Amino acid sequence: MKRILVTGGAGFVGSNLCARLVRDPENHVICLDNLFTGRMSNIQPLMELENFQFIEHNVQEPIDLQVDQIYNAACPASPPAYQKSPTDTTKTCIFGILNMLELAKKYDATLMQFSTSEVYGDPQVHPQVEEYRGCVNPIGIRSCYDEGKRCAESLCFDYHREFGVKIKVIRIFNTYGPNMDPQDGRVVSNFIMQALRGEDITIYGDGTQTRSFQYVDDLIEGIVRMMNLSRPDFLGPVNLGNPGEFNMLELAQKVLEKTGSQSKLVFRPLPGDDPVRRQADITVAKRELGGWEPVVALDEGLDRSIAYFKTLL
Ligand code: UDP
Repeated sequence: MKRILVTGGAGFVGSNLCARLVRDPENHVICLDNLFTGRMSNIQPLMELENFQFIEHNVQEPIDLQVDQIYNAACPASPPAYQKSPTDTTKTCIFGILNMLELAKKYDATLMQFSTSEVYGDPQVHPQVEEYRGCVNPIGIRSCYDEGKRCAESLCFDYHREFGVKIKVIRIFNTYGPNMDPQDGRVVSNFIMQALRGEDITIYGDGTQTRSFQYVDDLIEGIVRMMNLSRPDFLGPVNLGNPGEFNMLELAQKVLEKTGSQSKLVFRPLPGDDPVRRQADITVAKRELGGWEPVVALDEGLDRSIAYFKTLL
């Protein structure tokens, strides 16, 4: 059996990854989560499986588990969630990756760090390529997450250079789909829940800021390909995102059409340091990950997500 650790395994991305990994009976999946933003309901369908195990644990604390692969996804990822306790967010990024790198070093495991398009900050280069070093405010309200994730990347590469630890770094762009927390404050979950409930749709700023929205299944496919590359010397960082670029007004319009909602658009102040444009350049992912590219278009992904959010009402 391959022993696989998924930190943050009860979260949105983590739980979708666990569900994918347990499908292979050769995998034994250990899901670690402190349930700060992760939810037991996300992994409930997996709890009965013989090759799945849940451990309630905070990655800020060391843990000793003999594993072959580590996916380090643990960290609150929506702006309201990571800003609720910003110092804790930084600690999760830094102590979390240090603990996982030590584990990888001890057991010669391969560690994948779940980094983020936030390392590019409010980007001056568009679309964002991996070589771009970003434009991050080190003292703003997003810094706990952005700088935490940047430092975690740097620790991965230093552990690789200094101790030969096997690492992989992925940079995840905005992702949406089933198992998202309806209350986590992200734009896709907010708009869909507001539309379904007939509440006002809250547009922050003038709604012209853009994002690339990736359906979660596409991300999981990229993650699994990256971990199991036949060419292990490709460490990343690699962008995983959908290159389709939409602004928030377009997203709101699509959600209204698809839900048939009568909700009205209301405009709210733009939060500090909110990036103006973001679009994934996935040239590297396509080249290195066997032609990987997203296959679920925003329209189809929204339909599937709306079906999921309806089950929560
Ligand atoms: N946003 C919005 N209304 C909301 C929630 C978010 O207009 O109810 C905007 C937010 O200001 C940002 C974009 O949507 O420009 C994406 O926000 P999200 O929190 O999903 O992700 P991130 O900003 O980290 O990319």
